[in-house]
Amino acid sequence: MRRYGKHTDEDDVRVRPNRKGNRPRTNIRPKHEDAADGFVLTIDRGRLTVLVEDRTITAMKARELGRKAVVVGDQVSVVGDLSGAKDTLARIVRVQDRSSVLRRTADDDDPYERVVVANADQLAIVTALADPEPRPRLIDRCLVAAYDGGLEPLLVLTKADLASAEPLLETYEPLGVPYVVTSREELADGEAAERVRERLKGRVTAFVGHSGVGKTTLVNALVPERKRATGRVNAVTGRGRHTTTSALALPLPGGSGWVIDTPGVRSFGLNHIDPSRVIHAFPDLEPGTEDCPRACSHDEKDCALDQWVTDGHADPARLYSLRRLLATRERREGD
Ligand code: ZN
Repeated sequence: MRRYGKHTDEDDVRVRPNRKGNRPRTNIRPKHEDAADGFVLTIDRGRLTVLVEDRTITAMKARELGRKAVVVGDQVSVVGDLSGAKDTLARIVRVQDRSSVLRRTADDDDPYERVVVANADQLAIVTALADPEPRPRLIDRCLVAAYDGGLEPLLVLTKADLASAEPLLETYEPLGVPYVVTSREELADGEAAERVRERLKGRVTAFVGHSGVGKTTLVNALVPERKRATGRVNAVTGRGRHTTTSALALPLPGGSGWVIDTPGVRSFGLNHIDPSRVIHAFPDLEPGTEDCPRACSHDEKDCALDQWVTDGHADPARLYSLRRLLATRERREGD
C-alpha cells in the first residue's frame, strides 16, 4: 500500500508561537514499559474506547500527551487498569506515528481543521448516481483529502438503477480511481456489500457519504455485527446511545479488515493541503514538477507540467484532472 510519509503532528494545525526559550524539555518521562498496545475504536466526550487484545476498554488521554489529539484509528499505548471492567479507566500514554490522516473541515463550533481518522488505508466515497444527484465537486474534495492525507480512494456508486454511472466514471477515468457500481436492489439484498467487501480485505477503510446515498445501509450490511458492536461500545462507556459525532471503527467479519464509519465528517478541511503531497499520488506527473518555479501552484503560466505533457511524458487528461483537484481548495463546498 502507498504511504505518503508521516503525518504525526498535523492534527493540530495551529502554529504555536515560537516563544523565546522554547527549548526541548529535559525531564525524562517514565517509559511505560508495561504499556499495552491498543487501537482506538471511537471517542465520546473525552472517553476513548480502545481495543486491547480482544477486549474493549475505556481510556482517557494522559496529561503528558499535552494537546496532542488522539483520534479513531490511532495505534496507542495504554497503561492502568486494562481489564475492561465496569467503571475502570485506563490512560493513553503514547500515540504511534500515523500512516495517514483524514481531516474534517473547520466549522462554527470549532475554527480549526482536525484529524478525525488516523491510519486508514482507503477512503470509500459513497455517492448516489441519482436521488440525491451526484456532486462531482464534492467527490473532488474527497479525493483531494484522500490524496493529501495518504489514503487511496474508492468510489462506491449507488442507485445505478436510476441513472447511468458512465458520465461520472468518465470524469474519474483519468485518475484511475477504483470503483464499485451498485443498484438499490443489490444494496438491499447484500449483493452490493459482497462486492464492496472484496475491496476491503486486509485494509482499514473509512466510509464517507451524505445521507440518502445508502452509506448506512452498506455499512450495516458489511458489518452485520454493527448494532452489537455499537452496543458493546456503549456497555463499556456506559454513556447510552452512541453519539453520531465521532467516527466508529468496526471489524469486518472474519478479521479481514476494518470499516471506519464517519457520521460526523460532512466535509473535509482543505485549507492546509500541500500540493506536493497531492501530486505524489500522480507518479506520472510528479517528475515533471522538477522544473517548476518555486512554490508553483501548478496552474500558472510558468508551470513546467504543460511542457511535460506536451513532450508526451503524461496524458493531458491527467494534468487536467490534477488541476481540477488542486482548484477545489479555492471553492466552497456545494459550488
Ligand atoms: Zn508547476
